[in-house]
Amino acid sequence: MQNNKPAAACEPLLPRHPRWEEFVERLAGPEGCNFQTDSWTCFGDLRFSTAILREMGLDGPSIDVTTAYFKSRGGYCDCEVIFNIEHRTHAYDGRGDA
Ligand SMILES: [Zn+2]
Repeated sequence: MQNNKPAAACEPLLPRHPRWEEFVERLAGPEGCNFQTDSWTCFGDLRFSTAILREMGLDGPSIDVTTAYFKSRGGYCDCEVIFNIEHRTHAYDGRGDA
């Protein structure tokens, strides 16, 4: 029963998404993990990711798809999204070593 899905806001936010960089910056910043030289904030879940995704206008199902993707890539909490997904995405860009 879903015809004519509205576009932009209701897509999961994955690394190829145009706003992915914005998401990662916010997640690493003061409203998220707030990375410092050798410390950061993480509660062991995806509460910052979820809150930021919601602020960016994603609906519930899109957020579910996005967090499921994070977990499938080893991002089980907010800081792991940065460590395991953001960094790997940049590695892919270079196409250096396998
Ligand atoms: Zn963490």
